[in-house]
Amino acid sequence: MENVIIIGGGFGGLTTGALLAREGMRVTVIEQNRTIGGGLQSFTRQGVAFETGMHILGGLGEGGSVRRIFQYLGIMDKVRIQRCDMDCMDEVTYLATGDVYRLPQGREAFAGALCRYFPAESDGIHRYLQACYDLSEEVDTFYLRPTPSVFAMHSKRFLQPADEFIADFVGDPRLRDLLAYMNPMYGGVPGHTPAYVHALINVLYISGQYHFVGRSQHLAELLAEVIRQHGGEVVTGQRVISVRVADRLVDYVETADGTRYRGDYYISSIHTKTLLPLLSEGALSKAYVNRLANAPVNYSAFILYLVFKPGTFPYINHTGYIQDDYGQIWNHATYDAATWPRGLMYLTPPTENQGKWAARMTVNCLMNWSEVERWEQTRVGNRGADYEAWKREQAERIIDKLERRFPYIRECITTFYTASPLTIRDYYGSPEGSLYGYSKDGLDPARTLIAPATKVRNLLLSGQCVNLHGICGVPLTAINTAECIFGLNTIINKINAAVPT
Ligand SMILES: Cc1cc2nc3c(=O)[nH]c(=O)nc-3n(C[C@H](O)[C@H](O)[C@H](O)COP(=O)(O)OP(=O)(O)OC[C@H]3O[C@@H](n4cnc5c(N)ncnc54)[C@H](O)[C@@H]3O)c2cc1C
Repeated sequence: MENVIIIGGGFGGLTTGALLAREGMRVTVIEQNRTIGGGLQSFTRQGVAFETGMHILGGLGEGGSVRRIFQYLGIMDKVRIQRCDMDCMDEVTYLATGDVYRLPQGREAFAGALCRYFPAESDGIHRYLQACYDLSEEVDTFYLRPTPSVFAMHSKRFLQPADEFIADFVGDPRLRDLLAYMNPMYGGVPGHTPAYVHALINVLYISGQYHFVGRSQHLAELLAEVIRQHGGEVVTGQRVISVRVADRLVDYVETADGTRYRGDYYISSIHTKTLLPLLSEGALSKAYVNRLANAPVNYSAFILYLVFKPGTFPYINHTGYIQDDYGQIWNHATYDAATWPRGLMYLTPPTENQGKWAARMTVNCLMNWSEVERWEQTRVGNRGADYEAWKREQAERIIDKLERRFPYIRECITTFYTASPLTIRDYYGSPEGSLYGYSKDGLDPARTLIAPATKVRNLLLSGQCVNLHGICGVPLTAINTAECIFGLNTIINKINAAVPT
């Protein structure tokens, strides 16, 4: 039995580990935190659980790729999720004008709603959606189709900047803005984020949107259980501090307590920027190291967790987006202190036996690392009174903004908790608290193009820095990584055989 050592017990490391364990490998996942999960971690305060990262899920409907991967791993019937309302998966509010758009899930319904809001743009809306679906079809793995080559050829729209892509189909500036409302779900940058990223995320959620029920953590636990059932282990509270490489082979990885782990293969599922300093000098070429060390990371977020008084705030079975005004969706991460936050995303995650009233709300606001740079040398729990005061101030600003959509919300709150880019950096080891790995650039795609295989022959990469992030991107990359060991299309063919569409 071959051994594989996986660095990082987030969604990427655990999914890759579960796939390899199912292939008969002996898997050891090493996680620095006491709790596994990375972006799937939850925390509980006063009996109310909150997700720290992943909230909004797609690919889990009948025949969906993520659903089929989870079925293949034997966990789908234990994954606790709830579908958002069919007639409104996302509500987008513009405060300046009072415009509210309620967008249903399902391609036809989504198109129909947009056409009712913008009847003069009906033709462009249909062509835009067709173009999004066409772009998604260019990515075989998105549909779990075997791919003829790892180097796929793509249409000229594939790398076109997403904002220009939208503008090619519709003319009304309000509609252009609205079509980009999921921007915070992929960290879009105007003029740079490629259209395929925009298309994949939009198609994923339009095809069916879900929220976790209870704690997102349970998905990490289910994946870890698959690894254990196949004889593997998940070690927690062990930070990898060095990856010893000689003659283009990893010899061992060492954790902070001096333990050395040896395997036939090693997979890094931590941020690539975090991995690079752990590698022996000269393990990878200078050009490769410089490229990855200097590539831009995605922006971060400030997160507000609200606990509601029982029976006061209604449960909402969709995601909500609040924007100050049109024309800002591409610039949420370029603001000054006075204008932050220009927009936010909120949800009231369902609990077990969810009734009429919400117990909690999570609110995400994009934020730049530069806001918290002055505390970058501090660690969790020891950042000082000025940091705590700053966090309270940000929380109040967000509640002020929420009040414009829900005038009664302040009276419903018993308490709140916050997380900043520093929290994200320290809990996930994500440089600058970046949400989604690298910031993709259609103008310079090679800069953030990372293959799962490396020049170190037994070192592979997985997780959100390779390809796409999130509930769909990370498991698809896990397949790519596993196929570096077992051969192109091997895992996809097995999934298709075991779980036909
Ligand atoms: C605030 C936020 C909101 C998000 N919302 C959504 C959403 O709604 N929908 C969606 O699809 N995606 C969302 N995402 C993205 C999603 O959470 C990530 O794409 C996904 O969790 C990444 O998984 P990963 O395993 O690649 O990385 P991570 O989850 O970051 O896991 C990396 C793991 O490696 C560990 N680690 C780091 N360094 C070391 C070391 N030296 N030794 C050992 N272990 C180490 C970390 O502790 C961590 O557990 C969100 C992310 C954030 C931060």
